[in-house]
Amino acid sequence: MIRYECDKCGAELQANDHQRYIAKLEIFAAASPIDITPVRPEDTSRALDEVIKQLQRANPDDIEDRTYRCFRFDLCDACRKKVIDKPLG
Ligand SMILES: [Zn+2]
Repeated sequence: MIRYECDKCGAELQANDHQRYIAKLEIFAAASPIDITPVRPEDTSRALDEVIKQLQRANPDDIEDRTYRCFRFDLCDACRKKVIDKPLG
């Protein structure tokens, strides 16, 4: 049997509990439109080489944190109300 508890206050919750809520939080990089201008093929190759070098030196977890993260929380009814009132609490 799967046990649930509120991730905010620790209250025990049942799987089909009508007082159990799920909150999801997504954090991702805001992107603005990319300015695409024609470049020489050798400039593109040099730029790609630099990006690859940067990625090889970077920490994979840091790259993931900077691009997209998703969290899922179980909440009791009281904590649901608190989160709705002040999401970043
Ligand atoms: Zn709670």
